[in-house]
Amino acid sequence: MDRRRLLLLTAAGVLGATVGRGTAGLVEEPATRHRGLLQPAAATPVQPPGTMPPPVGVVDQLPGAADRIALTIDDGVSSEVVEAFTTLATETGLRLTLFPNGCYRSWTDNARALRPLVESGQVAMGNHTFSHPDLCTIDDAAVAEDISANRRFLADTFGAGETPFFRPPYGSHDARVDRIAADCGHPTVVMWNGTLGDDRLLTPDQLMASARRWFAGRSITIGHANHPTVTTVFDQLLALLAERALESVTLADVWAAPR
Ligand SMILES: [Zn+2]
Repeated sequence: MDRRRLLLLTAAGVLGATVGRGTAGLVEEPATRHRGLLQPAAATPVQPPGTMPPPVGVVDQLPGAADRIALTIDDGVSSEVVEAFTTLATETGLRLTLFPNGCYRSWTDNARALRPLVESGQVAMGNHTFSHPDLCTIDDAAVAEDISANRRFLADTFGAGETPFFRPPYGSHDARVDRIAADCGHPTVVMWNGTLGDDRLLTPDQLMASARRWFAGRSITIGHANHPTVTTVFDQLLALLAERALESVTLADVWAAPR
């Protein structure tokens, strides 16, 4: 078993760590602690199926168990970063929710590797618009067209157009945008209560400082597949999940339409 896999199993709570869930995730953990990494993992984590229908309106944290975190990765400016996230998920079983913009070729570049992860449910998809405009600055028809274009893109590329989840670019939305997104088939507006801070270029230390600040139970954490910094700290991020006994889940693990 490679080290990443072991880190992830540790992150899933298999080893029973109970540290680090401070109030609102603001309690910092020592960066160098690697509790339990030398112990064998007992079993592959089993994900609960989505038991609640997707809410209509805005969500910014997970309901339910306090040991779950939703890692959500946006945009996809860099094909190399999307490839790295895909490899990470494939090698470790890490569960991710992706919010691609169809205007970036990174997604078609990596579609062959991503598609099995989407089909298995390990990776969920949400709509982040096709071209990443500030939706509050464009008219109703333009909002609907950009969302619908990305819905078609997600359907054609990943078979994932039916996702209920919508994330407005820049977090910029209002009641009008929310209503149009819902009319386009995406009633659940996914904001966040934790961030890797990597919508701008960070050093690895800066990125890990954000992660230590925000990784916490019930968090919806936002990150980006834009700058390569995040790919240099994957092992540290997995170790942090393990230290805090956090289990990665997709938004669809939490909220799924009844079949
Ligand atoms: Zn974005």
